[in-house]
This record gives sequence, structure tokens and C-alpha cells, in this order.
Amino acid sequence: MPQTPIDAYTTFAQRDLSGREVTEDTYHIFARSGITVFETDDGLVLVDTGIYSESAAMAEKLRDFSQEPIETVILTHGHMDHVYGLDAYLLDGQDEPTIIAHENMADRFDRYERTIGYNEAINARQYGGTASVYGRLENLEDSLFGWPDHPPTTWYKDGLTINVGGLTLEIHHGKGETDDHTWVYCPERDVLCSGDLFANVPPNAGNPQKVQRYPEGWATALREMATKEPRVLCMGHFAPIVDQPEEVSHRMRTIANFLDTLVERTLNELNNGAPPHTDIVHRVSIPEVDEPWFEEKYHDTEFIIRNIVRYYGGWWSGRPSELKPASRSELATEVVALAGGTENLLTRIQQKLDQGEIKLACHLADYALEAAPDDKSVQSLTATVYSERAEQEKDGVSKNIFTAASEYAEDGRPFCSR
Ligand SMILES: [Zn+2]
Repeated sequence: MPQTPIDAYTTFAQRDLSGREVTEDTYHIFARSGITVFETDDGLVLVDTGIYSESAAMAEKLRDFSQEPIETVILTHGHMDHVYGLDAYLLDGQDEPTIIAHENMADRFDRYERTIGYNEAINARQYGGTASVYGRLENLEDSLFGWPDHPPTTWYKDGLTINVGGLTLEIHHGKGETDDHTWVYCPERDVLCSGDLFANVPPNAGNPQKVQRYPEGWATALREMATKEPRVLCMGHFAPIVDQPEEVSHRMRTIANFLDTLVERTLNELNNGAPPHTDIVHRVSIPEVDEPWFEEKYHDTEFIIRNIVRYYGGWWSGRPSELKPASRSELATEVVALAGGTENLLTRIQQKLDQGEIKLACHLADYALEAAPDDKSVQSLTATVYSERAEQEKDGVSKNIFTAASEYAEDGRPFCSR
């Protein structure tokens, strides 16, 4: 197996491979991401193919349950943890399966091909949390961010119902985490495959480094899925939920309400005279969800608010000076001069850190590093500030991005340049 980026993602939730029959002739196998397998009279239907580096082990697990060939594959969305690695599941000499995906997935794969370097860097930050992971990703096979070896053969637009070997599969489109998302429902077996539209945690509907996500479409998809009250829910991640149809629907509706309220409150602020976008996260009150499973371990709701602003607005922060700004280093040099020199600024940063005002310490540390990237004491204090920040954050995305910032600071590199 060639090295894949996911192998290097030390903080990407590592899980042991497991598989089970969730209902008659239907299997769910998962490690870091999951696949669902429907056995039919004409072979197997696979929903997703998992992470490339895990696909051989997943395929082996599948063969504990069934020796039938893969007849049809349905891809829930084009993220790398769901679509690569089909080869591992195919039997020797079997016919090429039908591979079904939403038509927007083609644009995604094209985009990945054009942004391989960028995607390697942002995924290193999001999952690895360190800039040095970036270096280890240089040997990647390009295909992991481009088209898979087995591209989709059937594209659908609004929705599709197929019958494979006597089994009905409803294929639904929803815009949520991505614009190419699919969820699948099998009425005969009462199984719903949600892809990443439901993950039993708050939705990551505003990834800070990635393309637009769709909180409103996500809410719609969740409500549509909730009407099914599925006896078996197989998600793109985590273990399946069996025999809890009311609870599943309740959770889906809870997240839908959360997203819709967040959109409404953000739009109210935008309509209230378009305040500077930089401050809007302080003005929108976040809807409270009093449920033990609703814990922001993966990302922060602030990111969703910014994502809504981006969807409805432009890129400008709203600060007049930032419409056509001076370079960061020029501005930072002025700030250091105002402070009376680097040493004074460092003293202030340390004070803010000691006083528990870590957000302000981070702002000031950015200026220090941008003005004096080669100054060892600046590098060291900035690295400390950001590792402390990472420590204090609750969600994985923030932790990893701040950890990466700390490592960049050690190297005297302002965060975003290589
Ligand atoms: Zn996923």
C-alpha cells in the first residue's frame, strides 16, 4: 500500500476496524470512515469505499460476510475519506461496477486536480496539526486529490431510484457539508445511509480553510432524512445506530433547527446595517442545544457564522483599511514602532498571556512575528502563545490550526507562507 496523507494525520480520530450485520444481508464496516454494503440477488451494493489506506482491510472484513461481486457503488460525496480505494473491493475478473454520484462531484474532482498543493497543506493543518506534516506529504500520489481510479459512471441531478437484484435504493441529493452530497434510503430494509450529512455531533458547516458549505441545505437534508425514521442509520463515520428510529430523527431535527436558527440570526445581523464581518461572530448569539451528544469536538460554531456571511456576502472584512490593505509586514512594523520596539511588544504579549487574555495575546503575537520573523525571542514567544491557545481550544480543527501556527512560528514563518 502506498503511503497516503491520512496515514500521517496523527490526530485524525484513529479507530479500530469493525464490521457487523446491521440488518438482514446488510453490513456496516468502519474504521476512520465507514461503508455500507447491501447484499442483493445480483451482487453487492456499496455505499462509499472508505479511506484509500484502509480499503484493503475494509475489503477483507467485507469478505467475512459475503463473497459476491460488487455490482453497484454509490458515492455519498467526493471527500477523500469516502471515494478512493474501490479496487480493493473488486473480485478478480469481475465486471466493472456501476458507480453512481451526484453530478457536482465532477467539478469537485476537477477542482482537486487544480489545487493539490493547497489541499495537501490545509489537510496537513486540519488533521495533522503541524506544518512539518506538510513536508511528509510531498510524496503523495496526485490521484488522492484528483479523480479516483474508478470514476463515476452514472451521474444524477435531483434524485434517482434504482433497483438492484430486487432491492430498492432511493438516492437523494442534499447540499450540506458539500454541494455533491448524496444520502441513500433502502425501504425494504429500513436502512438509511447519511454519508456525512449526519454524524451525531454538531455539523462542520463552515470549515475555515475549505470551500463553501451549506447550512440551509444541510438543514433541509436532515429534515428529509428525519421523515424516514430509519430503523438502521449507517453514517459516514462512527458506529451505526440501530433500533432507535425516534432518537435518530430527533437528533436530525435538532441539528436542522440549530442550523436554521444560526442562519436566521446571522442574516438578521447582516441586514442590520452590514456590520464589519470581522465582528459578526461576537454579535450573533449561538442557539443553545442542551443535549449530551451535541458537543463541539470537531469544529467551532463561529466557523458556521462566517460561512453564512461568506455565502451571502463578499470577501471584504468591512474594515475600510482592509479593502486595499498595506502588506502585513508593513502594518506589523508600524505596530511594533507604536509599541516602542519589539521588546515592549513581547512584554505586553506575555502580560496578556499571564492575564488569560489569550485571544489578544495571539493578535499581538501575529504582529510581532510578521514584523520580526527572524527574531528568536519573537519566534519562541509566538510559538508558546499558539501552543497554549491550541491547548485551550475544545475543537479539533482549532487545536490543529493553532498547533500548526506554533510550529510555523518556531521556524520564523508567518503562518500562511510556506
Ligand atoms: Zn467524511
